[in-house]
Amino acid sequence: MGNKKNQPDDQIFTDAIGRLDQAFEQDHLDPEVLERLKYPRAALQVSVPVRMDDGSLRVFEGYRVRYDDSRGPGKGGIRFHPNVSLSEVKALAFWMTCKCAVVGIPFGGAKGGITVNPKELSRLELERLSRGFIQQIADFIGPETDVPAPDVYTNSMIMGWMMDEYSKIRRQHTPAVITGKPIPLGGSLGREDATGRGAYYCIKELESRRNWKPEKVRVAVQGFGNAGQHVAHLLHGDGYRIVAVSDSQGAIYKPDGFDVASLMYMKNESRRLKAVYCDGSVCESVDAQQLSNAQLLELDVDLLIPAALENQITVDNATRIQAPVIVEVANGPTTSEADKILNAQGTLVVPDILANAGGVTVSYFEWVQNKAGYYWPLKEVHAKLHTIMQREFGNVHNMMQHHGTDMRTAAYMLALSRIGDAISAQGTDRYFSAENR
Ligand code: NAD
Repeated sequence: MGNKKNQPDDQIFTDAIGRLDQAFEQDHLDPEVLERLKYPRAALQVSVPVRMDDGSLRVFEGYRVRYDDSRGPGKGGIRFHPNVSLSEVKALAFWMTCKCAVVGIPFGGAKGGITVNPKELSRLELERLSRGFIQQIADFIGPETDVPAPDVYTNSMIMGWMMDEYSKIRRQHTPAVITGKPIPLGGSLGREDATGRGAYYCIKELESRRNWKPEKVRVAVQGFGNAGQHVAHLLHGDGYRIVAVSDSQGAIYKPDGFDVASLMYMKNESRRLKAVYCDGSVCESVDAQQLSNAQLLELDVDLLIPAALENQITVDNATRIQAPVIVEVANGPTTSEADKILNAQGTLVVPDILANAGGVTVSYFEWVQNKAGYYWPLKEVHAKLHTIMQREFGNVHNMMQHHGTDMRTAAYMLALSRIGDAISAQGTDRYFSAENR
């Protein structure tokens, strides 16, 4: 990614909260709400000493940020990545705050992360790191205060270790402290593909509004991980042509479209897409062209789905983006400067805080099920997710049309009005002003 090196330390966060001012200009929010949302409620920085398999000791830095809890407990994933920084975690926690408000679920926003390359650790080292992190943040999180979940390079197995560690510390089974757990430990059915499925429901809304014929829609997906694979798979099932996919090692392109199930099998068996084009016979059988990640973003396609990491569409490449529609499955893939260029080009961007909200929505379902001790069938999870995504896509779309703005600004306006309602209900200057006393 290399973005962290190019940016002043707090740039990602500053860029993220810059969206607030844009939405504020369009709407008449209480200025106190805006001021409150420019600062995280609390940020914790920890160090996690881990005994490595060879007997040596390594210390990893980690963070947990609770951005806002006006609408409910903080909610947001834990990321393991070498580029994790406090600025990034604050930005991600801010986005979570807005995301939970956009889909109307009763959570605030939070995020966590450890600066680590998890691919360099053995499974036992990873488990010690995960449990060690929970030991450091146990007093900061909890089912009623701040509820973590998976993010980049963390998964249900890691959530299971973390829940187990927290339960040991509290001396009681506490499944609702974390979501995205394995099913036998209180996970929800439908969590695994929820982010991709939520984005898919958004795309189905676009399909009906724009009269798309799926077989004519060429799709490029940047980042063939959890979220990217599932949205590609669901779209492919409806006849969409998935013509390009990528991972951290590079991209592959096939104008007729890939068989996504085979790609998923190969990626998940070999851990890298490269095997798809590098392993001789497989290479010939898939007949794919090799591209760089930068080339994938600039392909002549109808729908571009960034599903890797932030800051992928920037001032450097925005003018070369040809896709007329971008559905942001990753968090923050487009910088605000790039956004201006895309808007001027007439590109429709379905923003991350709406398009990838399926994951946190099913996380909310998991938390509800854990608290109730009663578990729902898969069909019910899908139906409830569909209802929420369809409703909130419609709300954001209507707001965009009503205010003549772009979809991202509309999503922020919706989020801010909901967060603003909660903050105002707790009392602001207007409430305490002399005439109301
Ligand atoms: P993941 O770790 O499963 O997958 C990430 C994928 O991106 C991997 O295949 C990796 O190889 C690839 N990648 C990394 N760098 C890349 C690059 N420069 N170019 C192309 N591909 C690259 O992670 P995920 O859970 O699928 O998350 C992906 C994005 O979606 C992140 O921004 C995350 O914050 C966001 N997101 C995920 C969820 C979720 O529930 N998984 C929910 C909301 C948002």
